[in-house]
Amino acid sequence: SNEEKLQIVKKHIRNYNDFPKKGIMFWDVFSVLKEPKIFHLLKEVLVDTVKKIDPPIECIAALDARGFLFGSLLSLEFNVPFVPIRKKGKLPGCTFRASYSKEYGEDTLEVQIGSIKKGQKLLIIDDLLATGGTLACSSQLAKQCGAEDITYLVVLELEDLKGRELISDHKLISLIKL
Ligand code: AMP
Repeated sequence: SNEEKLQIVKKHIRNYNDFPKKGIMFWDVFSVLKEPKIFHLLKEVLVDTVKKIDPPIECIAALDARGFLFGSLLSLEFNVPFVPIRKKGKLPGCTFRASYSKEYGEDTLEVQIGSIKKGQKLLIIDDLLATGGTLACSSQLAKQCGAEDITYLVVLELEDLKGRELISDHKLISLIKL
């Protein structure tokens, strides 16, 4: 079952104390990708999860950089466009921008205008939900593009940080709670 697969995946996610700075426990989803068999289990669960989203998704927006790993494989699997959301200054052409505040200062994300079509059923995907600032900002961008029906998907959720509350405007699916 998906639960059994996720139990195995969870055991393969390495964590690092005090990275990238003191007091932060970093969860390294790349450790799953180092073992193709484990990555395959995660892929199966991701595909099965997205298959159950109703109405079906029409576009996938993924967060730079670890959201790209899962977003691109799902876009091929479901034959829907892959749209990157990146930190400002990385995407060519005309973009929408939105900012969010972080512990120190603020961050700005961008999406290319026209990449998400008006009215599209959108999946926004990232590796991990912490405070929720990144996904909240992403949904602002998606709304600027005219997306209406948004679902958030993350592999990992740090429940103690209550990021879920910040993004309660849309449905959130998290596979593994930490
Ligand atoms: P947030 O905006 O606070 O929800 O942070 C989520 C984003 O930051 C995701 O793109 C994660 O990859 C990254 N991130 C935040 N905290 C961690 C952590 N403890 N371990 C790994 N990645 C993290």
